Amino acid sequence: MGIKENKEYILNEIQSACEKKNRSSKGVNLIAVTKYVSNETTREAVLAGIEHIGENRIEGLLSKKEYLKDLPVKWHFIGTLQTRKVKDVIEHVDYIHSLDRLSLANEIQKRAVKTISCFVQVNVAEEDSKHGLPVKDVVAFVDKLKDYDSIKVVGLMTMAPFTEDESLIRNVFSTLKQLQLEIQKQKMVHAPCTELSMGMSNDYSIAVEEGATFIRVGTSLVGKEF
Ligand SMILES: *Cc1c(COP(=O)(O)O)cnc(C)c1O
Repeated sequence: MGIKENKEYILNEIQSACEKKNRSSKGVNLIAVTKYVSNETTREAVLAGIEHIGENRIEGLLSKKEYLKDLPVKWHFIGTLQTRKVKDVIEHVDYIHSLDRLSLANEIQKRAVKTISCFVQVNVAEEDSKHGLPVKDVVAFVDKLKDYDSIKVVGLMTMAPFTEDESLIRNVFSTLKQLQLEIQKQKMVHAPCTELSMGMSNDYSIAVEEGATFIRVGTSLVGKEF
């Protein structure tokens, strides 16, 4: 199948998940994760109507952004961000999905020339292999970010464990939703926290059912070339 067909299929799945939960599918944004595909394939995705592109490596993001500079795209950095690399990417991103430590916040604050929309990454399942804050530390962390006027906490991000166990995945996503509500209750100006970045190729339907507003889909949308 081509990207257009993949996209139609995914949009249908989003629609069904939303209907199940009585929410509007307008609130769900599809990010095409292009880390496994070429610049040309990424262009194809944008021409098929994709508005959001996600990359987990700086070189990939910069190369694709240059190649697609004639097209309107929102750029999402979704990978682990090394503090010393912030300066290379900060001017080129619309969203950072992986804010998980104050040293990174310090560097973003130091380098930013405009407000940066950030997701705080949460390691809900506390897997050693994944980055992100444990749930118990998130509220205090978000509170500390009030001193960083270049950082806007637009939402929370997580990755579910890679497992067949649907109830475990669902539990991770609903925990992130609960945490979002807890943060929203505090009505912090710097942290509206209206967004939830969760769901990938294998689990985006569950994520949408549990309240995702940005899903990050690679393989099942644009395929895998390398
Ligand atoms: C690679 C990646 C994705 C997309 O993964 P697929 O399984 O190919 O859809 C989503 N989020 C992050 C953070 C990733 O690194």
